[in-house]
This record gives sequence, C-alpha cells and structure tokens, in this order.
Amino acid sequence: MDFELNDEQRMYREAVHDFCQKELAPYAADVDETGDMRWEAIRKMSTLGLTGLMVPEEYGGADVDAVSAAIGLEEIARACGSTALSIAAHNGLGCFPIARWGTPDQKAKYLPQLTSGEKLGALALTEPDAGSDLAGGVKTNAYQDNGHWVLNGHKAWITNPKYSPVIITLTRTDAEAGTRGFSMLLVEPDMDGVTIHPPEKKMGLKGSPTQQITFEDVRIPVEAGTLGEAGRGVHHTMETLDGGRITIGAISVGLAQAAFDAAIRYASERQAFGKPIAQHQAIQWMIADGALEIEAARLLVYRAAWLKQEGKPFVKEAAMAKLYASEVAERVAFNAIQIHGSYGYSREFPVERIYRDQRLMTIGEGTSQIQRLVIARRVMEEHGLQ
Ligand SMILES: Cc1cc2nc3c(=O)[nH]c(=O)nc-3n(C[C@H](O)[C@H](O)[C@H](O)COP(=O)(O)OP(=O)(O)OC[C@H]3O[C@@H](n4cnc5c(N)ncnc54)[C@H](O)[C@@H]3O)c2cc1C
Repeated sequence: MDFELNDEQRMYREAVHDFCQKELAPYAADVDETGDMRWEAIRKMSTLGLTGLMVPEEYGGADVDAVSAAIGLEEIARACGSTALSIAAHNGLGCFPIARWGTPDQKAKYLPQLTSGEKLGALALTEPDAGSDLAGGVKTNAYQDNGHWVLNGHKAWITNPKYSPVIITLTRTDAEAGTRGFSMLLVEPDMDGVTIHPPEKKMGLKGSPTQQITFEDVRIPVEAGTLGEAGRGVHHTMETLDGGRITIGAISVGLAQAAFDAAIRYASERQAFGKPIAQHQAIQWMIADGALEIEAARLLVYRAAWLKQEGKPFVKEAAMAKLYASEVAERVAFNAIQIHGSYGYSREFPVERIYRDQRLMTIGEGTSQIQRLVIARRVMEEHGLQ
C-alpha cells in the first residue's frame, strides 16, 4: 500500500495550486459579489487540462488519472468555490457522459468546444418536483416524430446552462418502461423552444450560474441527439453521478482546507488574555479536529478516485467520500468562523463566503441522506442480505 502521490500527481498539484492561488483566489470575493466568473482564468485553465480532465487528448482533453482530477478540483475549490462547482459540473456532468457514451460524431462536435475553456458543460436531471427520486418524478418527456424527438418539460437547479453548447437532458422517452424508459438527449440552447431562465439567487456559490430550463416542442434529431442507448438514461445518470460524487468530495476537501488555513492564520495573530488565541486549548482542539477530519476526508476522496482509476468497484466508496467530506467541510467552516469571532461573520474575511459555499455539498449530486442509502444498500449486499 502506497500513500504517496506519484511524481506526476505531485507536480500537477503544485502547478494547479500555483495557478489557482494566482488567478482565482484574489478574485473569489469579487466573483461572489458580482455573480460573474473570471473567464480570463477559465480560458487559461485549458492549458492545465482543467477544462478537460477526463476527456481524451484527441478532443482537446488532458485525460488525467482520477486522483489527479480530484486534486485539480480540490485546488480550485481551495481558491474559489463558485469556480470549482462550475468546473466540476463541466467535467463530471457535462464532458464525462459525452466522452463515455458519445458517438464519434457527437464527440467531435461537442468535446473540442467544451475543452477549449470558452464554454462549460451542463447536465439537466433535476426538476421542480424531482431531485432525489429522478426515476419516480421526472416529467420531462419526448416522443418521436419524423426522425426527431419532440421534447417538453421543465428542469430546475441546473449548473452552467447559460455557458453550455449542449445541455444533456434526462428525458422520459417511454412512459410504460419504468426505469428503462429514460434517455439522455442532447439539447442545444439555441434550438427553437428552449428557454434558459435567469440564474437563481442563491445562498453561496454565487458565481456559478444555477438556472431553470423550459422545453416547449423542441425538435432534436433522434440519431444525432440521443446520447448513449435510448432507454438507459437512468443507468447512464447513475454512473455519471457515481463519478460526480468524487468531485463533490474533492471540492469539499478544498473548501475545508481553505477555511482551515484562514482559521489557523487568524488564530496565530489574534490576541486574547495576553497570548495568541491559538495557544488557548479550546482553539487547539478545533485546530486538531480540523486537521484530523480534513486528512481523513482527503484519504477517502483519493481512495474512491484510485478505485475508479483502477476499474474496481467504487460506488460505496464514492458515496462515503462525498458524505464524509461534505460534512467535514460544514464542521471545519463552522469552526473557522468560531475561531474568527465577529470577524468571521464579516464579508471582509473569506470564511464567511466559504461557509455559505460549502453548504451545497451535502445537497448537490445526492443529499447526505441519499449517500447513506447508497452505502447501506451496498453494505447489505456485501453481507448477502439484499
Ligand atoms: C447550486 C446547485 C447546483 C445544482 N446543479 C445541478 C445540476 O447541474 N444538474 C442537476 O440535475 N441538478 C443540480 N442540482 C440539484 C441537486 O442535485 C438536487 O437539489 C439534489 O439532488 C436534491 O434534490 P431536491 O432538491 O429535489 O431534494 P429532494 O429530493 O426533494 O429531497 C428533500 C429532502 O428529503 C430527503 N429525502 C429524499 N428522499 C429521501 C429518502 N428516500 N430517504 C431519506 N431522505 C430523503 C433529502 O435528503 C432532502 O433532505 C443543483 C442544486 C443546487 C442547489
């Protein structure tokens, strides 16, 4: 067993860290305040492979190993939560399904645009009445007419659609077929009948656009516009989310690390009762707990990524990594504010923003409750009990 990153992974971390601290961290408060991402930085990310982490090189991607991909997202989150969410959704939800199930024509059409750093990918699963229970609740539907799907419905809480050349859309295409009655359709935003609504006003991650989308009789060519096998949309979704959970775990670790770094810096400077607060035992306990939990979360995330890379089963481990890391981010960011006292409650210090940003991580790409269901189901299966 080897707990060391290899040379390539270590060098990748250093390069991405330096880039993010220079190009993202100084602007993160501004991104949060204005709601606009720093496109100047996103364009440059393509040179580090961050806009095509899992995409083959022939389509402009970097095709890095899964641990390096997690490291990349962790470092982006350490600098700017909004950018991290959009880049994670772009890679894990927008690019991955096309790279995994796209035909050569679909890959050639969309992937070079997506990896260029000029556009971001989007996957539309959630609806106003369907989140955790997609198979039971998705109403967006399509029927075939003259070689086209005719798509109608409404998606909600979708990351990046306003920046995406193609919105991968989970659609009910056979009402009688249960979980085998869904397909992933490739919807281009400028197709007639597509409306992308203004970004939601959110608690955090304000630079990452989250939008509703309406489809009214949108006509999509069946052959060019079906991603993967028709009828296997739910299966493709589940596989996509399994990988996506590692990316949310990685973002959680990055956000927790950023809050922790700020807290220990502050604790060594702030004086109370004649000494830096870092010398008071109650503060040291918070520092010790944070260091321990971030390390444990990081190991879970890297292990899930490593299993994925090795082609081994990783569903339970990805759920564990996402569940634990997101809850660690909550605790560490909470304590970071506590260590800052009143200043932690002010927008002048980054921990206030990080606390708001991390709050999504126990919700997006499967809530903590759903992760526990996934883990428990796998454990029961392993014991031959289900
Ligand atoms: C900023 C942001 C970005 C997002 N980006 C995307 C995106 O790009 N694409 C996309 O498709 N979606 C996206 N989402 C949606 C997100 O994935 C969903 O919100 C999430 O899956 C939860 O669904 P829901 O909000 O409908 O909650 P619900 O499913 O309604 O759940 C509500 C509560 O009930 C609990 N619950 C539900 N079922 C069970 C159960 N069986 N047992 C126990 N508890 C249960 C949940 O854990 C939760 O606490 C985004 C959301 C946000 C806020």
